[in-house]
Order: sequence, then C-alpha cells, then structure tokens
Amino acid sequence: MSKISDRQLEEILQRCDITEIIAGYIPLKKAGRNFKALCPFHHEKTPSFVVNPDKQIFHCFGCGAGGNVFSFIMKNERMDFPEAVKLLADKVGVRIVTETEKEAGAKHSVSIILYKLNELAAWYFQQNLLKASEAKKARDYLIKRGISKESVSDFRIGFAPDLWDGLLTFLRSKRINDNLLFKSGLVIKNAQDRIYDRFRNRIIFPIFNAQAKIVGFGGRTIDVSGDAAEQHQDKGPKYINSPETDIYIKSKNLYGFNFSKRFVQQEEYCIVVEGYLDFIVPYQAKVKNLVASLGTAFTHEHVRLLKRYTNNVVIVFDSDEAGQGAALRSLNLLIEEEMNVKIADLRKGFDPDSYVRKYGAEEFLNRVKAAKTLFDYKLDLLLLKFDKESPEGKAQIAGMMLETIGRFKNAILRTTYIKKLSEALSIAEETLIFELKKINPSTQFFGKTGKSASFPKVYKKTKAAEKMLISLMLENGEFIEQLKEKMHYSEFTDPTVRKIAMYLYQSSKDVQPAAILKNLNDEEVSSFICNLLVSDSGVNDRKKSFDDCIRKVKIDGMQLKLDEIQKQIKNAKQTAEELKKLLKDYHCLKKEQRFYEKGKKKAGQKSC
Ligand SMILES: [Zn+2]
Repeated sequence: MSKISDRQLEEILQRCDITEIIAGYIPLKKAGRNFKALCPFHHEKTPSFVVNPDKQIFHCFGCGAGGNVFSFIMKNERMDFPEAVKLLADKVGVRIVTETEKEAGAKHSVSIILYKLNELAAWYFQQNLLKASEAKKARDYLIKRGISKESVSDFRIGFAPDLWDGLLTFLRSKRINDNLLFKSGLVIKNAQDRIYDRFRNRIIFPIFNAQAKIVGFGGRTIDVSGDAAEQHQDKGPKYINSPETDIYIKSKNLYGFNFSKRFVQQEEYCIVVEGYLDFIVPYQAKVKNLVASLGTAFTHEHVRLLKRYTNNVVIVFDSDEAGQGAALRSLNLLIEEEMNVKIADLRKGFDPDSYVRKYGAEEFLNRVKAAKTLFDYKLDLLLLKFDKESPEGKAQIAGMMLETIGRFKNAILRTTYIKKLSEALSIAEETLIFELKKINPSTQFFGKTGKSASFPKVYKKTKAAEKMLISLMLENGEFIEQLKEKMHYSEFTDPTVRKIAMYLYQSSKDVQPAAILKNLNDEEVSSFICNLLVSDSGVNDRKKSFDDCIRKVKIDGMQLKLDEIQKQIKNAKQTAEELKKLLKDYHCLKKEQRFYEKGKKKAGQKSC
C-alpha cells in the first residue's frame, strides 16, 4: 500500500472512538474522565493503562507505551502503519484509495492468477508424488528421511517427473497462456524462445508466504549421497528455487512462517534454520517456533516481519558454516535492528534435520537453549583462531570484536560488552573505547568508562521544568505564543522536548495533541506526550509555574554555557586576546544568571 492522504487519516480518526476500539480488545473501567485497564503490553496486577477519551490517546505508566488509536492497533495487532490504517478504515467504513487504482488493479489481477497457477502446479506435483510409479524413489527417500505422511500433506511436498514438458503440458491443458507460465517462473525460455519445465526429476517443496499462499517452489535432487551429487552435471545443483516473480520476493519471505508464526509468538523466540528439511523435520517433532532462511541473508523486511512476533532470535548454524565470517556478518543487520541474537552450535557434520533425526527434538532444544550471545560466540571463535597472548593476536581479536560491538544501538549493551572484552583480553576499557571511537566517532557509553556518559548535574531538574512548559503549552495555546517570545526552542536541553517545542512554535495556538502524535511520528515523542496528557500536572497557579519554569531552564542553560567557558579557560590554549573575551563573556553571563536567580529580571531582556 502506498501513501494514504492526510485527509483520509483525518477522516478515520474522526470516525474512530479510541475507547470503543480499545474496549473491543480489553475490558476498560471508568476512572474519572479516563478509563483504566490492565496493560495488554506488559504483565501487571494493578491497572496502569489509561485511555483518555477527550484527547483520544492511551498511555501506560508501567511500560511507557502510548499513542493514538493507530499506535494501539499497530502495537496490539503487530501491524505496520498502513495495515493498521486499513484495519481501522474497514471498521469505520472509510474507503482507502491508493496508488493509481488502475495500475494496482492490473498488478493485483496478475498476482491472483499467479497464485492460482501455483496452486495448480502444487496439485500436479503432489499427485505425481503420491501416484506416479517413477516417483517411488522420491517416496522412498522421504520415508528414509523420516518425513511423515502428515508432513507431506501439510507442507504439500510433491515430485516433478523427469520430463521437459510435464508441468508445461498440464498447465497448457488448463488453457494457461505461455506468457503467464513464463511470468510464474515455473518454466524457462531457451535461446529459441521455446519454454520448458524448470523443475525436473526433483522433490518439490512449495514456498508459502506468511498468509499461507504458495509463491514459489524449491526442488531437491533425490539420489544424493553427500557432496558428490553437487558435482553431478546432469542433475545440477542439490537445490534449485523459483526465481523472483510478482508474488515471490525473496527479501520479504521466510520459509515456514505461515505455519510457525503463532508458535513463535507463544514461545517468545524464533529459531532460524537454513533449508526446507531443517524446518520440516524439527516442526513435525513438535519444535514449531522456527523459520528457514533458504540461504538468503537477512533483510530489513525479514526483520520487520519477525519483529511483529518476537525480538528474540536463535540462529542454528550448520557446524561447517559456523566458523565462516560471512555467516556471522549476515547477522549484523539483526543487531542493528536491535534484535536479541543468539547462536546455537550443533555437533560437527550435523544440520537441524539430521540432528533431530539422530538425537531427537529434546536434545535439539537443549542445544538451542544453550545458545550463546553473538558476542560470546564470536569471541570464543576468535580466541581459538588467534593467540591472545601476542600483541598482534590481541589487536586482531579486539578489532573484530569492536566491529560487532559498534553495531549495538543500546549504549548499556555496548558498555557491558566493552567491559567483558576488556577482561577477556586484559586491555583497558578506555583503550577499547578509544579504538571504537575511531571506527564510529559518535558512539556513546554509560558509566565511568565513557566521558560523554556523565550528564550535567542540572539535567534532571531542568528536564522537569522543560516538561512542565510543554504540558502548559498543550493545555493552553496562549502559552505557546508567550514562550515563543521568551525562549528559542534550541534552548531546551532534552531532544524530545526540543522536537515538540519546535513543532508547537510552528503550529497554530489551538494545536491538538492527536495532531502532534500524527505529525511527529516518533515513539519517544508520543510516549512523552501521552504521559503528560493523562497525568494531572498538579499546578494551581499556572502563570507563576510558567515563569518559574522558564527561569529554571534559562538559568540551567546559562550554567551549561558557563561550565563550557570555564573549561576553555582552563585549557589555556588561547591567545591573550581570546582569553580576555572569554572572561568577559563569563562575567556577563554570570551577571545575567544572577539576575534570573533573584527573579528581578523579566525573561527575554539582555543585560550585556
Ligand atoms: Zn504497559
């Protein structure tokens, strides 16, 4: 779905009542002008989830979740924004018109035909597997691999006969034209423009999308005994897959997710394996919270799909690929997307399929549960590979570990890992941080190790004053006009506050909170605003509180500047002339600050 117009969003918002929508999911209890409930997004015994019908927002004081009706649906239904909009639009009877409808319509109808075509093909392959005499070797192979009858039927496994025109003849007999056949990827065109079957003499695994529709196929050679088959010219590679088509986009598809998504949600983590059988064999042994990557490296779309169900991923590497840097590098994206990644190792020479067959599902799960964090896993590998006692080895390991650490967005995690790495290699934390900053200069840390970690001491109280100012402006648009004259938005220290202030300064004075949430589509902003709106500010004299807060923010802002000037003076790298100017600035600012402190001075006047 492409862009939805503001007018349509507005219309949906107007027709939705947030209390009604949320009450459709969880029981709400009236409490003053708000409604309360047990939060659906975190475990709790006393309700801290508040819905405010006047402002059309919700907020949870327990976990900080908050937003408008769209945010609620996105979070609760694990949908992205367009999907949530569509759901609500359907509920309140707003028709959404997107793209040029004609174009979308044409594309849509090709997609529908391709899905139908794939259904026919799957049926054809399956009939062959079950009935054709030449498919006996395929049936025997599946039995040998322990694939149950139920699995053959659930996963709709089939067989492509050893013919150039088996499927082709079948589909032509269904009056499907060659152009569509070619579009489906089921046939290949030769240099003379003649078409023939892509899959020949192979076991066929249909590939489903998350909605359980068949989007493509994978074909596996049968009489495989180890690697020999891969070199076998007539048979071609062990696996071949459908090419990308209008309905099969590899960067968006994870094999088996249509079967496993609810189990992933239940178990709160997802096991990632490689191939069809690595998925099917554990699945039929009741380990159902998995997906198969089919050899595609993780993309943002894959992660987005997974993230709707869980943030926790355990990758099961084939033991022979585990040591390869490429396999580890493919996980960088997962870290950047703030997934919790762990890595499980199987015994040498095993993949999930063979491991479950040999040792059983329980033993497989034990391996999964013993998975290491990516940090530990990589460090252990590097410690085997390089000599940590030699300076060169140490530098190698540190460099490669920092490459990974730098990708974590969470400063606390980064700080923890730096500490661990420092202990493992006996290198000072400061040295590692210094090295990491060379890779990524903007990296931040918490605690004593990182300089940027110590916030200025004024920060906390300033924040409260800044928060109060936003609250007053939201309550009464007159305050926006007044504050605009006295303070520039850049004078706010908190980035979220600054963002909201900038928005308020630019909008009209009767700005609606719901409009801010919509226009500043930012989770921190919405959490911040919703918290303010459902809390009672507890202020009686608003005008006095307004002036006090401005004074506080001003004085603290000046203190920050004073500290900065003092630091520069101490550095003593300036000429006599510059020093003189710094001292003058310092005294000037100090004087202004004192005026503010005594409350004698009206905000906005200059003293120097
Ligand atoms: Zn909550």
